[in-house]
Amino acid sequence: MAQTTVKTIQNYVGGEWIDAKTTKTEAVYNPATGEEIARVPISTQEDVDLAVQAGAEAFETWKEVAIPRRARILFKYQQLLVEHWDELAKLITIENGKNYTEAHGEVLRGIECVEFAAGAPTLTMGSQLPSIATGLESGVYRYPIGVVGGITPFNFPMMVPCWMFPLAIVTGNTFVLKPSERTPLLANRLAELFEEAGLPKGVLNVVHGAHDVVNGLLDHKDVKAISFVGSQPVAEYVYKRGTNNLKRVQALAGAKNHSIILGDANLENAAVQVLNAAFGSAGERCMACSVVAIEESVADEFIELLLEKTNELTIGNGLDEGVFLGPVIRDQHKEKTLKYIETGVEEGARLLRDGRNDEKAKDKGYFVGPTIFDEVTSEMKIWQDEIFAPVLSITRVKNLEEAVDLSNQSRFANGACIFTKDGGSVRQFRETIDAGMLGVNIGVPAPMAFFPFSGYKDSFYGDLHANGTDGVEFYTRKKVVTARWV
Ligand code: NAD
Repeated sequence: MAQTTVKTIQNYVGGEWIDAKTTKTEAVYNPATGEEIARVPISTQEDVDLAVQAGAEAFETWKEVAIPRRARILFKYQQLLVEHWDELAKLITIENGKNYTEAHGEVLRGIECVEFAAGAPTLTMGSQLPSIATGLESGVYRYPIGVVGGITPFNFPMMVPCWMFPLAIVTGNTFVLKPSERTPLLANRLAELFEEAGLPKGVLNVVHGAHDVVNGLLDHKDVKAISFVGSQPVAEYVYKRGTNNLKRVQALAGAKNHSIILGDANLENAAVQVLNAAFGSAGERCMACSVVAIEESVADEFIELLLEKTNELTIGNGLDEGVFLGPVIRDQHKEKTLKYIETGVEEGARLLRDGRNDEKAKDKGYFVGPTIFDEVTSEMKIWQDEIFAPVLSITRVKNLEEAVDLSNQSRFANGACIFTKDGGSVRQFRETIDAGMLGVNIGVPAPMAFFPFSGYKDSFYGDLHANGTDGVEFYTRKKVVTARWV
């Protein structure tokens, strides 16, 4: 029988591709086929130390490089990412499972982060007051902070790392990235292309692995800041341990996003948007729609439309033409999702569409069909927990006020959407809803790179969010100079 050997990927440290100092590896699977496509090393403290040391050494020269010169490398990087767009998108689909069109969109989101970061000369300008007292002036100057650690989730292998390292690096820091061990392949490609763009050795380092690498970064005295994106319990842990070690930490966490549909909404649009937001990327988005709160008067009509459209979706390998819904990330995640569906039934919610019955759900890829519950209440676990899979809960409400009150009971506050034609309702929603990213008649209101990614409550721990001017603030420190010329 032919023996297939799967490659163990390498770490990228000080501009060199090196084997991790470990024999422990984990399988990386293509979730659409269940096939093992690579092995990822579970790196150790020693690997972290090497990468941080490389970053600390590189920092001494990188921080001195003029900002327009740093930005020029980013411009070149942007060009390379554009040239390799299709290849990167394909890799995302292979390791993550989302369909190729969505993967293409994710590459765009990553490129936009690089484009934003390339504006560093303007973004990092200070400000001056020529006269704060007679003959006395003051000014603010911005500087990098040192080695930054980045820890990222599986669901956006390109976009989320790109929220972090381009901006951190262009502002003069060096970076150690710990990608998700479930989707580690794209990170290496991102590093290769950055090197090709002219990034000096040691400015970006990639260490693969799991908890030990995360803890290594959180405890390392030479790591000055941590950017984290992932699930709520890990975000809380990272925030507490990192800040306990007196580091700056921004930790973006889980979500349970609500969409409110009012009686006057364009129901056709609402159904298309909710379908995309609930089942796109197999529900594995922190901005996925998980709960619909709909005014009773239009609930039946909306549900009929939504079911009709959902039944037309194609489930399958995201590389195949016309496929909308790919697999979830792992078989364990599929099992967990199926348990949630069972729980929803036991809790008394009405199962309108059962994704366990779709033909593809019997495949060896990790597929779960789109699942829709009606008559869900806030006491139910399927309402409370982030399921992170194509499972949607619907709850019927009397009016906007009831919908907002209900939504605000959630421990999370990432995104929320409203579907209506009424400006007053939009205003009331904006003023009263607990969520950091709001959508009006759209399903996934994920901000572009120029704006902060802005959740709160248990969706975010920290002060400064990822992206936008928050990102610039996070990755820089300031000096205020007060001077009298005598
Ligand atoms: P995860 O928390 O399992 O993993 C995230 C990172 O933390 C990975 O690099 C992983 O190796 C590491 N990690 C996991 N467990 C750890 C532990 N016990 N100790 C130390 N490190 C640990 O998250 P995931 O499943 O990869 O990603 C999905 C989650 O990310 C969802 O909850 C989603 O909502 C969230 N997310 C949030 C945002 C946002 O902007 N708020 C964006 C994307 C994803």
